[in-house]
Amino acid sequence: MADHYGHPKRFKRRFPLPAVISAVYDTNNGSHKSRKRKADPNTWQKNIRCLEYNTGARKQVNGVSGSRRVGSGCKDTCKLSCTKKFTDEERQGIFDSYWGTNNHQRRRDFTVSHTKIFKKTGSMTGGTPSRRSNTIHYFLPQGRDNIHVCKVYFLNTLDISDSTVKYNVNNSNNGLVIFAEPKVPVNKTSDTKKQCVINHINSFPKVDSHYCRATTKKKYLDPSLNIKAMYRLYSVKCKEEGSLMVTESMYRYIFNTEFNLGFHTPGKDVCDTCTKYKMKKEANTLTEVDDKNQEEHLKRKQQARNSKEKDKTRDGGSITAVFDLQQVMTVPKLNISSADYLRNLNVYNLTVLEFQSHQGHCYTWNETEGKRGTNEIASAITIWLAAKDAEGFEHVILYSDSCKVLSM
Ligand SMILES: [Zn+2]
Ligand SMILES: [Zn+2]
Repeated sequence: MADHYGHPKRFKRRFPLPAVISAVYDTNNGSHKSRKRKADPNTWQKNIRCLEYNTGARKQVNGVSGSRRVGSGCKDTCKLSCTKKFTDEERQGIFDSYWGTNNHQRRRDFTVSHTKIFKKTGSMTGGTPSRRSNTIHYFLPQGRDNIHVCKVYFLNTLDISDSTVKYNVNNSNNGLVIFAEPKVPVNKTSDTKKQCVINHINSFPKVDSHYCRATTKKKYLDPSLNIKAMYRLYSVKCKEEGSLMVTESMYRYIFNTEFNLGFHTPGKDVCDTCTKYKMKKEANTLTEVDDKNQEEHLKRKQQARNSKEKDKTRDGGSITAVFDLQQVMTVPKLNISSADYLRNLNVYNLTVLEFQSHQGHCYTWNETEGKRGTNEIASAITIWLAAKDAEGFEHVILYSDSCKVLSM
């Protein structure tokens, strides 16, 4: 969008975000691009008004607002007989293409290229030199020609004012209006300051979402953190280094727009399929197939539950167990006031719970020993199976949640 002068509009950021917001949602990969919804300046009243001004749908003359339209022609006594040169349709056509550009710069160039300045040679005021040194001749396009018309006819056809034309003519060079470069606002956050914030946010250890790795690219920070706490650490760091810092609202803005980060919320126990379904539902992109698949999925889920309940009570040489990977633990437990947050260690834990004996087994390793992939999980399960084999069990039934990584 451009402002009245055709410059790219720079929007002032206001916090909190305005009431009209639209969700940034990418249906291609089914994941939110950034954490928060972004403001849509196109829906703001002041920008709608700006667009109206820019297309002639609105004008303000002496405090009275109206819309621009083709005005009356000139008088019959006009020496150039302008009214005989153009039909009403032609005038409307010129008006439409002039205001249809929605670009102030192009309109300014139009007025300059359709006027000619003539130096006044003689004086018309009887001996005394005229105050006016130049006269402007006006032209309107007709086919490939430019037809000489009077000033009144020119201004009324385009519904613009005399001062508009004069300003453009006086500020033109080689037939084009001099384009004023948009000024950089004095309070604009410099790229270095912004990069400093980005680096700071990046310095925190992040983990993937535990339950919906496949559906979202969102990463998670330690639950003991929040943006306010992070900003506090940032301001301490800036003061120590003596570097310039941004405001908290700017920090928050960068966090929300440049990153897709959340804070771990424990107890969120939803499978991939359900999460995907929920996200699609929120974005209103559900199809009949999705609904049907979800129904099937819930049916299968219930079946699995039923058979698990049945298997739980099996005895005589068989054992039923569930296994799952715990959410990534970061050690040491974060202490906000220290700088330890830069050196956290990720620890993984696979737990096997036996139903018959109500015994639990934990298999723990850290990120220096292995990842949290299929191989590591298989190793842990193998250890458990070997132990059960030694105990003399012949049948083992294992259940697990729908984690993609866990499917072996
Ligand atoms: Zn005329
Ligand atoms: Zn599910």
